Formats: sequence, structure tokens, C-alpha cells
Amino acid sequence: MYNPKSLKAEEFISDVEIRDTLAYADANKDNLELVDEILKKAALRKGLNHREASVLLACDNKEKIEEMYALAEQIKKDFYGNRIVMFAPLYLSNYCINGCVYCPYHIKNKHIARKKLTQEEIVKEVVALQDMGHKRLALEAGEDPKNNPIEYILECIKTIYSIKHKNGAIRRVNVNIAATSVEEYRMLKEAGIGTYILFQETYNKKSYEELHPYGPKSNYAYHTEAMDRAMEGGIDDVGLGVLFGLELYRYEFAGLLMHAEHLEAVHGVGPHTISVPRLKRADDIDPDTFDNGIDDETFAKICALIRISVPYTGMIISTRESQAVREKVIKLGVSQISGASRTSVGGYCEPEPEEENSEQFDVSDKRTLDEVVKWLMEMGYIPSFCTACYREGRTGDRFMSLCKSGQIQNCCHPNALMTLKEYLIDYASEDTKAIGEALIEAELNNIPKEKVREICKENLAKIEKGIRDFRF
Ligand code: SAM
Repeated sequence: MYNPKSLKAEEFISDVEIRDTLAYADANKDNLELVDEILKKAALRKGLNHREASVLLACDNKEKIEEMYALAEQIKKDFYGNRIVMFAPLYLSNYCINGCVYCPYHIKNKHIARKKLTQEEIVKEVVALQDMGHKRLALEAGEDPKNNPIEYILECIKTIYSIKHKNGAIRRVNVNIAATSVEEYRMLKEAGIGTYILFQETYNKKSYEELHPYGPKSNYAYHTEAMDRAMEGGIDDVGLGVLFGLELYRYEFAGLLMHAEHLEAVHGVGPHTISVPRLKRADDIDPDTFDNGIDDETFAKICALIRISVPYTGMIISTRESQAVREKVIKLGVSQISGASRTSVGGYCEPEPEEENSEQFDVSDKRTLDEVVKWLMEMGYIPSFCTACYREGRTGDRFMSLCKSGQIQNCCHPNALMTLKEYLIDYASEDTKAIGEALIEAELNNIPKEKVREICKENLAKIEKGIRDFRF
């Protein structure tokens, strides 16, 4: 039985409810009166439920799709302005005992090099990331209690936060590791992590079990209920995602929104972020052997509908996507992107030797961080290296209420400008710097409150003089 408040995976992600939702969406996809009603509700910026959003996803009327895109673009502007938060993944270890059939780290893959970074190697990798200008990392690891126990992850986090190099520091460490216990989530919280990210991969239980034939990850309920345990352990920012390409996208889309509704119903706070990874080629993995790949147009529609369904949730896109696709979806609602990513264990400090091949998947966007920053600014976006919300305790429901009321603009916009200024001075090429300085100058005028604008100007001048004691 479907019950969003239940703590049982099969009740809050009810297969029957998803199938009913898809049938309802099919029956109503040409009901333009209903589509208009849903769009009107979406325009109130309070979100849509999984049924309403699924009707929009099924609707293939060109004019209505244009309306969805226009609304997504507007909501994106209202909630996130023109800021794009920057981050990089750091792969700590690819030892893994699971059997995920889409992932090259699966235990039976004998042709990839198995690696785990030592603390000395982490220092080198993080210094290299800081030298690019990164301030925010997402830690990634396979699941292997012997090689990557929680103590190892905690030690890595401690090392990363301790590295101060020139003007650089990693100010927020997000973590994407396998589902774990309340106790271990509590340890992660105490270690000062930002968001705990875990992709569901697929919400379809039957497919999930086929795609994860053995290993701890094969337990659908344990995996699906992970965010509840994370929240019980005190982590109030959690990041959802599905791996598009594994199952029917409409099923996943409904499941994803139901998961968000469940978190809101039980914990009073929805997901902090939603990631939208698509299956990619990797060692031992041919995406063409999976039947459910989605084209770029469908992908864009999903991003736009996530934006209007959960307006207050950040949306993340990785370098799995090309420059062209990223350009399209940033406009429609993506608020965080990675830059200059390596998906190998190590590889930032020195490129990985070809024969070692520890990459998780092929990266499509291979540009440097400087190139990505410049590209964003040329399109009128402000690349933001800010982590202030987390550092100021604006997480969980406190962040959500600021975001829902639209007030987040008052702090995010100036902070984004100040962290961009730091980036330009410390790391940017001459070309990027020139574009950035002009952008900051122009954007100062877009800070509505005069007092905030004045403080921002003062702080920018301090940064110019080398004073860096702000809490971004
Ligand atoms: N081991 C953790 C877990 O099981 O959740 C961490 C996840 S892994 C380092 C990060 C994510 O990469 C996975 O959750 C999966 O969605 C994604 N991934 C795995 N194989 C992929 C592939 N071939 N193409 C694109 N993404 C992939």
C-alpha cells in the first residue's frame, strides 16, 4: 500500500502507485485543460506532486513543452539567479565488493587497476584541486568494508579539511559512498560533511535486484531507506539521483519525486540536491546493451520538470554530459556543475598511466576549470565557489525555508561574487580574469539592497588587497 510517511521502501516507493501514476499520465497526456491547470499550479513555485509532474512528462504537445521550458527557466532565475555552484569529484578508492552490472568497479572486473589513495596521495590530489581553484568536493568510493571502511573515509575527510595551501582550502566535502548504518552516518556528520549523496540507480525493485545481483548493495530496501537513516544520524542535507538509462525514465521520474515527497513528509525537509547522471561507456560496460537510454531532448525535459516540481532543490550535472547538453540544461534548471573532473582514483596531480585505467566512466566534458568558468561567464552565469550556507549552519530545513521564501538571493548573490573574485585573483587566466572583473562590476548593480551592495563592494576591495577572512 502506498504511504509516503511510511519508513518502508516498498510503501513510500510503491510500485503500484508508480504504475497507477503512469497510467494516469497516459490517460491525461492529451488533456490540455489538465495540463494547463498543472502548469498554473507550477507557476505558483510551490512544486508539483509526482502525479501532476508525470502528466507533464507524458505530454508531447510541442507548445506545452515550450511552456514547461519557459517556466523552468523562470523558476531557475527566481530561485537561483544566474549563479552556478562549482565542484569536483574526488575518487578515493575503487575497491568494491558489489556486482552492479553497469559499473566497472564491480568485483568481477579483473581488467581495471584497483587503487585506494593513501593520505599522502590525498594531500597531493587536493593541492592539485586547490591549485585549479576548487573549494567544494564530492568524495566517491566503491563499497568494500575491508579496504574502504568508514574509518578510512573519516580519515580522508579529516586530511582534506586540514590542507591549507596558498589561499586555498576545501570548504565543503560532500560524500557519495554506499548506503550505511545510522551510526556511520552520525560519524560522517560529526566529521563535518556537507551533503550525503546516494543515487538510487533505479526505483524499480525488480530491475534493481537484477542490476545488483550480489553484494551489500543488492538489498533494495536497505539502499532505498538509506536517506532516512542518514537523517536519523543527523545529516540534514541529502542528495538523490537515479542513473538514467537503466530503467524506463518515466518510472524513475515518478519514483524520484515520490522519494522527495517522502523525505518532506517524514523529516519536514526535501532533498538538498537531485543529480541526473546518465549511463556512460566504461571499462567492461557498453551502454548500448541497456535498453533504456534517453535522448538529449527527453533528458532536457526531465531536467526542466524536476526544476518546476521541486523548485527549492539544487540540481547537479556532472561531466558525464557534453558541453552542449550542459549548456541546455543549465538554462532549464541545473544549479551545480563539476569542472575538470577525473573519475580515476588519482589523476588530478598527475594523469593516470594508461595501463592502469581506474576510471569509473568516460567523461564527455574534458575542459579545464578555467575554461568552464570562462564559458559560464560568457553565457552570463556567475560561477560560485561559495560554501557559506553550510558553514553558517543554513542546512536542512533552515536552508529550505530561506530558499522557499526567496530570501536566499540576499546572501547568495554577493557571496557568489566574492568567491568568484577570489577565484579570479588566485587562479584565473588573464582572459578569464578580464571577463570576470567586468561581470562582477555589472552584477553588483543587480544586488537590490543598497546596504548589502555596499558591504559587498567593501569586501571585494578587501579581497583585492589580499584579506581573506570571510566565511564563504
Ligand atoms: N559505491 C557507492 C554507491 O554504491 O552508491 C558510490 C557510488 S559511485 C562511486 C557513483 C555513481 O556513479 C553510482 O551511484 C552510479 O550511479 C554512477 N555510475 C556507475 N557506473 C556508471 C556508468 N557506467 N556510467 C555513468 N555513471 C555510473
